[in-house]
Amino acid sequence: MNNKPTIAVIGAGLGGAAAGALLQQAGYPTKVYEQAPAFSRLGAGIHLGPNVMKVMRRIGIEDQLNAMGSHPDHWFSRNGMTGEYQSRIPLGEFARENYGASYITVHRGDLHELMVSTLDQDNLFFDKRLVDVDETGEKVVMTFADGSTEEADLVIGADGVNSRLREKLLGSEAPIYSGWVAHRAIISAEKLKAYDLDFEACVKWWSEDRHMMVYFVTGDEKEYYYVTGVPEPDWNHGTSFVDSSREEMREAFKGYHPTVQALIDCTESVTKWPLLERNPLPLWHENRLVLLGDACHPMKPHMAQGAAMAIEDAAMLVRCLEQVGADDYQTAFELYRTNRFERASRVQQVSHDNTWLRADEDPAWVFGYDVFEVPLKEPEAS
Ligand code: FAD
Repeated sequence: MNNKPTIAVIGAGLGGAAAGALLQQAGYPTKVYEQAPAFSRLGAGIHLGPNVMKVMRRIGIEDQLNAMGSHPDHWFSRNGMTGEYQSRIPLGEFARENYGASYITVHRGDLHELMVSTLDQDNLFFDKRLVDVDETGEKVVMTFADGSTEEADLVIGADGVNSRLREKLLGSEAPIYSGWVAHRAIISAEKLKAYDLDFEACVKWWSEDRHMMVYFVTGDEKEYYYVTGVPEPDWNHGTSFVDSSREEMREAFKGYHPTVQALIDCTESVTKWPLLERNPLPLWHENRLVLLGDACHPMKPHMAQGAAMAIEDAAMLVRCLEQVGADDYQTAFELYRTNRFERASRVQQVSHDNTWLRADEDPAWVFGYDVFEVPLKEPEAS
């Protein structure tokens, strides 16, 4: 008989899906609860560095992702106005040889759908918004917005930047609006053929206070994507995103290189998202509750490593439960925090500063990381 504890994962985002898949693979009876009634293919892309692809290998979807994604040979950083190259970071074959897996860019919806498909579908529940947890009894009792209750031995909060579980541990506190927004748009590559310009597979166009990151989101290079970082002092919309416009983009990127102007001209629809952060949290777990991903370290997306950190967290959490034995979950949770806090906080800081790969630098500390092999640090005795 399986004597592993029952685990509930709150949130089936990228971190929650990774946690659910790895826990189920390791034999933990795991249920995943997601507030959304269903997922849709929102217009957005995502980078998956070799550090994440190693987790995808373990989940069993590395080959599918390699077939699905675009494989840039370089990350280029260019001066937004003049086009001059500021950095040329080798990826492609170099990444496979030196960091142990591919560097790909994909459509976020395609990635998410594939990850969610790896979960045991009988234990994945949509339309389940957690509103409360009660830990006073033998088991954690979760209450959902539809009035239903469920029990589990351990509960993982993978419920994103506005995490209900984080609020339970640390009290109610809104995330910090960073003062920057991101515009996101997907462009048909067909339209770009009208221009005598080179549309590179992965390039970030920079000026002093803003940037535009551009890449393909499909292996056949039919869909090209941009995501920006642009200062905007206030965000009073009260929603997670709003529609933007070509006119707003032209204004924000006035004077930028003709390649960027072509992308704006080809934009059919573009959305605008507030970029939210939190300072590193003093607490990642308490009793039978533990947090991962944006629930405990949301960050500006400027290193393209936010989801990567959530996915690495998931893998480290499962590794620590296996290493310590889940009966001693408090020791396992502290081992997990000890082995994630420094890296996640460093990535949060570099993302905040928006300096990543702006000039030539060695990205091995991010891309070369292997969450399954990195030697574990013991927690300091308290
Ligand atoms: P989320 O993905 O936010 O998932 C949380 C899930 O929990 C959601 O499905 C939500 O519906 C659910 N949920 C919330 N509350 C409840 C509740 N009470 N009950 C039940 N379910 C609940 N990262 C990268 O690695 N690479 C990139 O290229 C990249 N680009 C980005 C671009 C932009 C513009 C932005 C804003 C972010 C980007 N990120 C990127 C960061 C990345 O999107 C996040 O860090 C990542 O999604 C965090 O994953 P998560 O699973 O922790 O949270």
